[in-house]
Amino acid sequence: MDFIRATTWVDALAAKAAQPGAVPIQGGTDVMVEINFDVRRPPALLDLTPVAELAEWSERDGVLRIGAGVTYARLIAELGDRLPGLAQASRTVGSSQIRNRGTVGGNLGAASPAGDAHPPLLAGDAVIEAESAARGVRMIPAAEFYLGVKRNALAPDELIRAVHVRPAAGPQYFAKVGTRNAMVIAVCSVAVALHPGERRVGTGVGSAAPTPLRAAEAEEYLAAELDWDSGLPAPVAARFGELVSAAASPIDDVRGTAAYRRHALAVLARRTLTWAWNDYRKAAERCA
Ligand SMILES: Cc1cc2nc3c(=O)[nH]c(=O)nc-3n(C[C@H](O)[C@H](O)[C@H](O)COP(=O)(O)OP(=O)(O)OC[C@H]3O[C@@H](n4cnc5c(N)ncnc54)[C@H](O)[C@@H]3O)c2cc1C
Repeated sequence: MDFIRATTWVDALAAKAAQPGAVPIQGGTDVMVEINFDVRRPPALLDLTPVAELAEWSERDGVLRIGAGVTYARLIAELGDRLPGLAQASRTVGSSQIRNRGTVGGNLGAASPAGDAHPPLLAGDAVIEAESAARGVRMIPAAEFYLGVKRNALAPDELIRAVHVRPAAGPQYFAKVGTRNAMVIAVCSVAVALHPGERRVGTGVGSAAPTPLRAAEAEEYLAAELDWDSGLPAPVAARFGELVSAAASPIDDVRGTAAYRRHALAVLARRTLTWAWNDYRKAAERCA
């Protein structure tokens, strides 16, 4: 197996163009497990860790651009106040060792339906910046990025450069069910992000379909039903939960049954919406 060490982003794109079969590696917390277990044996690894640009994040015109190599640990410490939903999800990833190595870019590259970064990225309308030497930059909305189980929209010569997302405009929550409290792959997960300026609630659902997904009908329901100047009626929260659950197409597997996942999604969606709504109302009352 060849080992290619790119030191600049331009070098990385050139290496991927020259050898599209080369597997990019960042934290290695997915790639090395797969190699150790002989799940895959790529012709080459393309090490992106020396590429300084990937480890940077910046904010411009109200949008955060988070390099694909920013780790979960840094995301929590440096961006937790601006992206509370993604930070909550990041805190549930593996252990501190995994959070010190693992990256959101790697979660996107792996495109596992159970990846914890995906629901908050969907709920927050994130856009993935992909790039190739031949065609330049391509901006892919998160909702169009996941194509199937562990399949994403990247072309063989493309790499993920960054994720673009607006800082939270309102409360955000992420909740996941696992068979224990830590070091666990989600049985299912839900993220909500309130966008008060647009009178809209974004959603993301994980580990309950071949891909992470948005619950579009649930979002439309809230856009029509929510009165942003009053309380959240319990039947509205309950119906939202049902619609989030209905958006999923879960399977029975070692982690849980489809029926359990459907039930848990409805509960998680109702809870996360209620938490976010209560935070929003409290903040609105303080300002009144
Ligand atoms: C013990 C353990 C616990 C874990 N727990 C969780 C958990 O709770 N939740 C969770 O979501 N995940 C978990 N994971 C999986 C893993 O940590 C995450 O998916 C992490 O985000 C991967 O990031 P990485 O930087 O290590 O990716 P890598 O392993 O380096 O790469 C992952 C994939 O992304 C591709 N890739 C990496 N960078 C790029 C790029 N710039 N452009 C294009 N493709 C790229 C790689 O080729 C590979 O296919 C766990 C893993 C382990 C070993």
